[in-house]
Amino acid sequence: MYSQKRKDVVKQLETSRHDGLTTESVEARLTKYGPNKIQQEKQESALKVYLRSLREPIIIILWIAIGLTLISASYDFFAKNDPAHALSSVYEGIVIWVVILINSGLTYWQKLSAKKSLDALSSASQHQANVLRDQSWQKIDASQLVPGDIVDVKMGDFIEADLRWLSVNELQVNESHLTGESDAVEKDSKVLPKNTGLADRTNMGFSGSTVVNGSGLGVVTATGTHTELGKIADLLQQNKTQKTPIEQNITQLTKRLMIAAIGVVVIAITYDLVKEYLNTGTIPITALMDSVSGAIALAVAAIPDSMPVVLSIVLTIGARVLARNRGLIKSLSSVETLGATTFIASDKTGTLTKNEMTVTRFFANGINFAVDGNGYDPVGEITSIEDGEIGQESDYISFIKGAILDNESQIQRNEKGHYEPLGNPTDVSLVVLGHKAKILRANLLSQIGDQDYDILRVFPFESERKMMSTVVKIGNNYKLFTKGAPDVIMQHTTDVILDSKSVPIKEAQATLEEQVLNYANDALRTIAVAGRTLTKEEALNATQTELEDQLTFLGIAGIIDPPRPEVRKSIATLHKASVEVVMITGDHPATARAIAYRLGIIKDKQARVIEGQEIEKMSDEQLFEVVPNIRVYARVSPEHKQRIIKALQKHDQVVAMTGDGVNDAPALRAADIGIAMGINGTEVTKDSADLILLDDQFTTIENSVAAGRTIFANIKNFMRQELTTNVAEVLSILLGTFLITHSIGHISELTPTLTAIMVLWVNMISDSLPSFALGYDDSEHDVMTVKPRNVHESLLANHLLSRVMIRGVIMGLSVFIAFYWAAKSGMQVNEAQTVAFLTLVFGQLWHVFDARSTHTLFRRNPFSNPYLLAAVLFAGISSLAITMLPFFNTFMGTSMLNWQIYIAVIFLPAIPTLVLSGLKELFKIKIW
Ligand code: ADP
Ligand code: MG
Repeated sequence: MYSQKRKDVVKQLETSRHDGLTTESVEARLTKYGPNKIQQEKQESALKVYLRSLREPIIIILWIAIGLTLISASYDFFAKNDPAHALSSVYEGIVIWVVILINSGLTYWQKLSAKKSLDALSSASQHQANVLRDQSWQKIDASQLVPGDIVDVKMGDFIEADLRWLSVNELQVNESHLTGESDAVEKDSKVLPKNTGLADRTNMGFSGSTVVNGSGLGVVTATGTHTELGKIADLLQQNKTQKTPIEQNITQLTKRLMIAAIGVVVIAITYDLVKEYLNTGTIPITALMDSVSGAIALAVAAIPDSMPVVLSIVLTIGARVLARNRGLIKSLSSVETLGATTFIASDKTGTLTKNEMTVTRFFANGINFAVDGNGYDPVGEITSIEDGEIGQESDYISFIKGAILDNESQIQRNEKGHYEPLGNPTDVSLVVLGHKAKILRANLLSQIGDQDYDILRVFPFESERKMMSTVVKIGNNYKLFTKGAPDVIMQHTTDVILDSKSVPIKEAQATLEEQVLNYANDALRTIAVAGRTLTKEEALNATQTELEDQLTFLGIAGIIDPPRPEVRKSIATLHKASVEVVMITGDHPATARAIAYRLGIIKDKQARVIEGQEIEKMSDEQLFEVVPNIRVYARVSPEHKQRIIKALQKHDQVVAMTGDGVNDAPALRAADIGIAMGINGTEVTKDSADLILLDDQFTTIENSVAAGRTIFANIKNFMRQELTTNVAEVLSILLGTFLITHSIGHISELTPTLTAIMVLWVNMISDSLPSFALGYDDSEHDVMTVKPRNVHESLLANHLLSRVMIRGVIMGLSVFIAFYWAAKSGMQVNEAQTVAFLTLVFGQLWHVFDARSTHTLFRRNPFSNPYLLAAVLFAGISSLAITMLPFFNTFMGTSMLNWQIYIAVIFLPAIPTLVLSGLKELFKIKIW
């Protein structure tokens, strides 16, 4: 394709440069070539995922438990000739097996649903392409591109397929992913000789490259696996299903708990056997078998079986909550990092401000003018500030012409008669100024009037250069117009027009700088315009650097970009939450400081502002010293952002950083949370971000941080609930082993307080369901008034461990006391165990209302989470039901009780929770 003429390529692909493809031919081609995708995602088979989940350590313990139940059953059946008892052991085995099925089924289902919701979320962040079809330009999903499509790319876009360029405008792309060459490559549309190497095919664009400058129009020559990228894609393919830090943490924790569980089991069995030996002098096999069946219950009790599953479900719920808040996260691990964020470094323009620019003042020919008017409405008076007189056109015509010809934007009237901006807001504000001065960009360019204006070349605005230039043909003359940050423009100028005379820049510099500072102190964004006459030869062939030199300074515009009204409040909220907000901007330091002050980012009008130049001069160590105290960075380029992030991270800060331009991508990757703008962000930044703000609003960052904190708090809450229950279970069984040394009534010293099946029921039903529901809890009133979580801290820190132990011990004690009381009052084994079981179930169902608060249950409306209420009701009622229904009586070893006892086991277990929480409220106790 690169060795053919453009015309021939277009013909060969049976398309049209001006009309694009038709819908029918697109459909036909889609069927023929398939979607424009490279990674045919390797779907792991359901069976494989399922089988792998059966190998989780927790599940292995359960398999061992099943083995033990079978041994115990065969012993009962063959040696003791006790088929009834053998059958109950077999039941136990079956139940454990069912638990394994449920658990791995849940794991499997959760993996699928997490993937589904992440896919759904990421489809919103999928790459888009601008394509000409059926004669009109439209944005489509890049996967729908077909060979023959005519596409259009501009700075910040990805090239989504292999293209042959039809026309380019200062187009530069980065194709390092194919060539390894990290410098941008200039593109054109000229025919190349046959056998040109990939890296030298300058008339082609390759899938996966990024456009770093200019724009281009091309025709798609290959899509999907047929592209150059597709050919090497197998090399690049990597599967990354990483566990999030918190998942790793919990896996580690469960492993430790398992080891502890095995330890406890060994101790308990040894204790039983030693006691038996001391009493009788032998260890009869009966004793061994009895203590084994108690040990099974113990082992099952000690492991938080459902914790990993519940965790992933809660994280997935969190991702959905974030999306509802207009924040799109791309991986589950970002959910927890968000909540721990300590520094937010935000772009100014568009994120903190409205990006609705209006020129309110300008300086030209030595005169200071004020401009009236509202927003983009193109009417308003231009008056001299000094004497209030209407301005003279001759004073500002060359300044305004430069401003609107060095410009690619326009304003357009919509159906309602309102004016709408088209293009870069800064540029639009200048076009509007032109309208107010009756110098209309559209008229100049459409040859209405005396002369013929034509923009020949465009060097677009770049935040590194902070300048933009155009080469314009005016009649038979050529001119260069440059505009940009005044301090930068001044370095390229030789003289300035003041009072209709040319003054050397050296003499006028102080005046100009004072002018700029005046504007900047009033929070105005400043732009200088300069120009010069060119020869035809220069105009057509000179390089950008050659052109942008020896300029004449024409004037300065002061542009207002009002702060977004809601941002001030968001910043105040973040400050209360001990999250620092830093402004990063390319604007003048005084403008930046003035806006930062208005937004409350700085409290001191004179706060230090660091400029890009200063950062350049600083060593990493020097930067490290200052970053904690700096809140405003001005005149920075994207590469400074990375250094700022790294310096903050060295202070152990968790940094979130926004970015919108192509060159921000590395900084977004370096940040702990890279944030991209959903509306105004480039494809490249969206691709490297962790969080995408669907509405480009700073307030969405605040909401996302709050959501991240809430999710983390919910995780801690359900951990507290689950672990407390585990402690209670283990303790109540151990107390039975150690404290009941003689038979009491029908209860022998070897009867476990709870059977293994009961423990499993508690773990899987009455504990897990409310735990899931905790994932839906709203934030507590104080999420945004406490300090961010320290990421290095253990999950059990901040009193979680002491709370689990104290509440667990008390709950375990009460279960044992209930059991002991039941034994004393002469109940049968099944009845006594049922009393213990229900005491445990209701103990933890009451406790869950306390566990969902870092304070106490009195601080949270118990009815605020309908899922929780439903889960608690279901758990309570079904737990009662299994003691009443004959089938479950045989199957689970439960027994019907009389109603007084039911009342007691439902309500008495509330007492510890109510009393402890009450004491906690009264005496501000933190440890339980
Ligand atoms: P930010 O995004 O933080 O506002 P920019 O990099 O967009 O910073 O702008 C930095 C400076 O570059 C502005 O203060 C202004 O002087 C100049 N500038 C911005 N946009 C344009 C533009 N379209 N043309 C020329 N100069 C511009
Ligand atoms: Mg900008």
